[in-house]
Amino acid sequence: MVEADVSVGGNLSAVRARIVAAGGKDTVLIAVSKAQPDIRVDEALAAGQRVFGENYVQQAKARWPSRRAHWPDVEVHLIGSLQTNKAEEAVALFDVIQTVDRERLAVALSKAERKLGLKRRYLVEVNTGEEPQKGGIAPMEAVAFAERVQNAHGLDVVGFMAIPPAEELVAPHFALLVKLADEAGVPWRSMGMSADFEDAVKLGATHVRVGTGIFGARAPRSDAMG
Ligand SMILES: *Cc1c(COP(=O)(O)O)cnc(C)c1O
Repeated sequence: MVEADVSVGGNLSAVRARIVAAGGKDTVLIAVSKAQPDIRVDEALAAGQRVFGENYVQQAKARWPSRRAHWPDVEVHLIGSLQTNKAEEAVALFDVIQTVDRERLAVALSKAERKLGLKRRYLVEVNTGEEPQKGGIAPMEAVAFAERVQNAHGLDVVGFMAIPPAEELVAPHFALLVKLADEAGVPWRSMGMSADFEDAVKLGATHVRVGTGIFGARAPRSDAMG
């Protein structure tokens, strides 16, 4: 399938303009490049985009080390769920890991930081819809968990992130995430995707994660890259 008509630069300008119009002139746009061809990522870099989100460790590993050599100011966030046995690879690859949601993972990340001599920034993922199949910590546990990750495990927790349930109104979920982040005293709120980033901005997102709205449709996942 050839989609030569995707204008990544044009889409980026349009999304940025919509974020500003929604009141988010300081909101960080994370371009979600999972399952996108490299050529579209390079177009985004050429258009000045520097913050990217990836879901899979292996895709990020193939894509980013070589590009960082050319664009040293690139910042790559892991926004997909992370297996404990990949914690070390993740700490080596990502500037920010947005999906800390269980104690064992925090322990593994902390160990990886010490081993590699690196400090990263972390978000606690909150399962605002309490969906059993989804990652993220339950809302009731989120504030205490964030404190433990910070104080007991020594990770730099800078915020909370959420992916609301697909079939529900997003506003209550965004509002809940903001309330929990306020309670925890952390500054970043990563919420909002292509379909709802303007709502997220209006409700206080500091970071929105936009994929298809910038890059067009994703290639279907063809394997079990993780
Ligand atoms: C894929 C993904 C996005 C981007 O989704 P779009 O609908 O393509 O904008 C944002 N956040 C997470 C966690 C994702 O997995």
